[in-house]
Amino acid sequence: MARRLRGKKLVIASHNSGKVGEFRDLLSPFAIEAVGAGALGLEAPEEEGKSFEENAALKALAAAAASRLPALADDSGLVVPALGGRPGIYSARWAGPTGDFAPAMERVHRELGKRDRSASFVAVLALAWPDGHSEIFRGEVNGRLVWPPAGTRGFGYDPMFLALGSTRTFGEMEPEEKHAISHRARAFLKLVRECF
Ligand code: IMP
Repeated sequence: MARRLRGKKLVIASHNSGKVGEFRDLLSPFAIEAVGAGALGLEAPEEEGKSFEENAALKALAAAAASRLPALADDSGLVVPALGGRPGIYSARWAGPTGDFAPAMERVHRELGKRDRSASFVAVLALAWPDGHSEIFRGEVNGRLVWPPAGTRGFGYDPMFLALGSTRTFGEMEPEEKHAISHRARAFLKLVRECF
């Protein structure tokens, strides 16, 4: 049985404003006060893990230890089987230090060439406590990559991702539509069932 969240305050262990915003939306039905890691002055640890799971856990554990509060972290990315799973855990790093996703999307498109455009978004959530305990949940959404990118909503690779069964990219969807099917929302639903 997973450990349940008892307090009402939760640190969102991310400095990515797109992700913090999505977590605030996802947490809004619950009586939980979400505080961003940036607002608490917490430093982002090096993402040295070899998997989404390892990186999510190290971020959540570092934030929980530093803040003495439960902390929620997400490690996520775009997994493209024809590229051997890349950019995967390196999805943010492909956008360089300035976080510019136009060249990152261009690179995915260029490296794929005429190969199979199937792709998934993966999100792994880690909920960690200051005593070092953590719970891990994984969510995925399958789809394919389109070119040119479409839409200005969302963040990261959203404008080039078309979920299976959708006619519009994540970049074209209203936030509520994306939250209904996204990898992060699916992982979050599992977390809610087990820990809230
Ligand atoms: P990290 O988990 O902070 O290492 O970064 C994950 C990266 O994966 C983000 O910066 C985006 O590039 C990409 N990513 C993760 N989730 C999404 C999403 O919902 N939409 C678009 N890109 C995403």
